[in-house]
Amino acid sequence: MPGGHDQTLRPFLWRAETLYEDTEIVSRTHEGIERYTYDEYGDRTAQLAHALTEGGIEEGDRVATFCWNHHRHFETYFAVPTIGAQLHTINPLLPDEHIRFIVQNAEDRTIFVDHSLFPKLAGAIADADDEFDQVDRVVAMGETVPEGADDLPVDIVAYEDFVEGHPTEYDWPDIDEDQSAGMCYTSGTTGMPKGVEYTHKMLWSHTMASLTPQGIPMADDDVVMPVVPMFHVNAWGMPFTATAGGSKHVYPGPSPEPEDIANLIENEGVTITAGVPTVWMGLQDYMQDNDVDLSTLDTVIVGGSAAPESMIRWFDDHDVTLLHAWGMTEMSPLGSVSHLKSDLENADYETQIDRRSKQGLTVPGVEFKVVDDSGEEVPHDGDAFGELWIRGPWVTKEYFERPEANEEDFEDGWLKTGDIVTVDTDGYLQIVDRAKDVIKSGGEWISSVELENAIMAHDDVAEATVIGVPHEKWQERPVAFVVPGENADESTLDEEVMDLLREDYPKWWLPDDIVYIEEVPKTATGKFSKKDLREEYAGQSLIEETEVPEDAAPDDD
Ligand code: AMP
Repeated sequence: MPGGHDQTLRPFLWRAETLYEDTEIVSRTHEGIERYTYDEYGDRTAQLAHALTEGGIEEGDRVATFCWNHHRHFETYFAVPTIGAQLHTINPLLPDEHIRFIVQNAEDRTIFVDHSLFPKLAGAIADADDEFDQVDRVVAMGETVPEGADDLPVDIVAYEDFVEGHPTEYDWPDIDEDQSAGMCYTSGTTGMPKGVEYTHKMLWSHTMASLTPQGIPMADDDVVMPVVPMFHVNAWGMPFTATAGGSKHVYPGPSPEPEDIANLIENEGVTITAGVPTVWMGLQDYMQDNDVDLSTLDTVIVGGSAAPESMIRWFDDHDVTLLHAWGMTEMSPLGSVSHLKSDLENADYETQIDRRSKQGLTVPGVEFKVVDDSGEEVPHDGDAFGELWIRGPWVTKEYFERPEANEEDFEDGWLKTGDIVTVDTDGYLQIVDRAKDVIKSGGEWISSVELENAIMAHDDVAEATVIGVPHEKWQERPVAFVVPGENADESTLDEEVMDLLREDYPKWWLPDDIVYIEEVPKTATGKFSKKDLREEYAGQSLIEETEVPEDAAPDDD
């Protein structure tokens, strides 16, 4: 029976309002830095809940957000689910066609939009057929509606007008823990994005696991700044975890630059922050020419794609712990974190770095197995690899209305992650590749990720990615795409990179070609997009004269 004692989000907000009413929530917005307390946050969340219900939003309805990280977006995080509706965060960096698809697929009723993102949304609406027909209202995040709002074929209202005058108390309903609280679409490598629904119970258990020492714990002396966007898997759940822990929140606002991130760390005393590796590469660059005081910072959580080992060392040199985490939209998203096991605390630094640069130990609550092509589990010896299957309370059991994808990606209650991994004797998971990206040469596997990381270790390489291109004899061969650094000499870089690779890899792993490009295309979540590269170079003969050495593939005879 549903009741106030179920595993829902509401008690997290109640605790923060009750115990930490004076703790701050700080937000960088178009208008500057805004700040208030949990006390006021609770009042405004109640006002928003009234505005939504009076505006016709009922239990089970979907409310979408098209926003960066700021306090108003955070208000929707609790107001929408705690009235029984679903918070559907939309990634505004997706192509218009995908945005139209997911708004229609999710049957969104109301959309909250940032001023800076309004033209993007308006563009998607302008070219729509009937995808936005069920949308009753657009709410512009701010005091006013943006320019061009009059042309929209949907009612639009400014957020502050929407919430103003409503009572600051709300008689929160009892919600069933299995009620869906949120939704996020994965930007898949093929086809339209797939919707993942998060029930209250999933988010509750994800929050509790995050709070454990083996997760990404946050407490009342922490100042938490999620740089990872709130449209991407609820900013890795951090707004919920930070509230449950009673932490101060800092939201870096629209398109934060390294300077904005540095200023917020310094001025607000940030202790925990999180984002994909490219964010921290930006900060590293910025700090080459600017002094930034990182003394309050304890932990940087890095995930979404592999954290380079050099980044872990760089943060160590600045007395900051980089915690490498792995997860997926399908998992709310936390799966593993690279904490050091206690028996490794006295190990030598290089051994520690080796473990810390892996994707880590599963957080308590999830189980995994690693299976090879024939469905057999592989040994945990650090060498054998296979596909990672995972299950747990906050791992979704299906996609929203996508039976064909369910068939492919789930089996006997396990999510087949599509990540190819090894597990070492200490239990650390290491992602070797995505199943779709691993290169099959002469029947043997080559890890594109390993080659990329090795190439990026060269000082004159800014970015590198490796894909398999079809090959008559060997089936596939690796080709590297390299963005040279500012001071690179392209006439010698090829050989230098190859020499570097020869140190660690057999001949048959070496790329057949190195192609120089200006930038590696990125996905809507900031990862290297191999799909775009493959499309761009499809049909072009990259390898003119294939000079694969005789011992190119060990099993070919
Ligand atoms: P998404 O659902 O967009 O968050 O993407 C999830 C995928 O990102 C995973 O299946 C991995 O392939 C990749 N990923 C996430 N975290 C990491 C990490 N720390 N290292 C390498 N790949 C990662």
